[in-house]
Amino acid sequence: MTFSRRDFVKTSVLGAVAVGVGSQARGDSHSSVATQDHDSQPASYKRPIIICANNGFKYLDDAFAFLKNGGDTLDAALQVVKGPEDDPKDRSVGLGGLPNEEGVVELDACCMHGPTRRVGSVGAVRNIKNVSLVSKAVMEHTGHVMLVGEGAERFAVAVGFPRENLLTDDSRKIWLLWKEYHSDADWWGPGISNPHWQPPPTDDGRPQSELWRERVHHLEEHAANLGIAPELRREAVYKVMFPPMGTIHCSALNDKGEISGCTTTSGLAFKLPGRVGDSPIIGAGCYTDQDVGSAGATGSGEENIKVAGAHTIVENMRHGMSPREAGMDTLKRIVRNYNNDMNKLKFIDMTYYILRKDGAYAGVSLWEGYGSSSFGTPSVHKIAVQDGGQARSEPTVALLKGNSQEFPPPPKVPTEVQKQFK
Ligand code: ASP
Repeated sequence: MTFSRRDFVKTSVLGAVAVGVGSQARGDSHSSVATQDHDSQPASYKRPIIICANNGFKYLDDAFAFLKNGGDTLDAALQVVKGPEDDPKDRSVGLGGLPNEEGVVELDACCMHGPTRRVGSVGAVRNIKNVSLVSKAVMEHTGHVMLVGEGAERFAVAVGFPRENLLTDDSRKIWLLWKEYHSDADWWGPGISNPHWQPPPTDDGRPQSELWRERVHHLEEHAANLGIAPELRREAVYKVMFPPMGTIHCSALNDKGEISGCTTTSGLAFKLPGRVGDSPIIGAGCYTDQDVGSAGATGSGEENIKVAGAHTIVENMRHGMSPREAGMDTLKRIVRNYNNDMNKLKFIDMTYYILRKDGAYAGVSLWEGYGSSSFGTPSVHKIAVQDGGQARSEPTVALLKGNSQEFPPPPKVPTEVQKQFK
């Protein structure tokens, strides 16, 4: 699905009107966008079940078999998220996650074990790959709930996690390219003493398309100089121009009705050192209540913290809302925080993964997809589900029509430059 920016603004506003944002309208009146409705037919609820963000899809089957054979619900969820943590090609989680602005990978994670009502969390952890498991160790081996930074790293090593370099060569090169891209404004890049130094280009009346073509060309050249392999160059340039988000949440429910959840991430690419997002915040990036259900989030962490997203959803379900209604209500709180201002909301992205104790589930998102629709490569938000048989990916139900845009907002990209990315 491709939208031009103009279409985007048009459909965003219409979408907002369609769902009655700011009014008492129910989220599920948004039937033109709703593609899945799992909470309307109680007969179809299944236990056991595992739900997660789509980057966990390929790890669902093994975790489900483990759960079915009597494995613990938290261990099943952790088995799913460990997959992307170990995968150097997943640039949003664990090993290979994109680093902070200083080139250091800092990870956040938390977990909640429903049956024993215990929780653990870690924030801004360096050099330890499986931070979701470290959050479980905090839960099991300390009298605390949350450890951060150096203390969390030392704790992890003390309980047996290996220290390792999490910055893969590919991610390091993407970070270096990002530094280059910003070098007009800082001390990176060729200095004045370099014989090849050129004053930064000025917008001397030349058409925007020309400036953009130069920028992309410049980045591609730098990518080549940095030794970025040809097949990675396009991805690297794209990630530098539009820093991505990622993260994985997983919730697991067994046939006895026991339920647990966990969330893990490398957070916002190129963030300030020490920045902690929503993922390790109990009640924002993850919340599980054995009496009700479990929820987790991916997307704009700062916005999710402000609405205590996962906790709000679980409380909504406790008071009778279906998983989808509970998620939509929470998304509307984000919309309300910006007084329905679509010019701001279009830069916010949020997806919730919701599982009720009886097996009803929903994936809901603020927008239908994320990414540069202007470049023809938006990704549709999806939830991955395994409840027996084939694991499946399903599009989330969106509150607003269209795709979110990147933040910080990129300058307008001319059509002919956009075409290079198609
Ligand atoms: N929520 C994560 C954070 O803000 C990022 C993401 O989900 O992409 O750190």
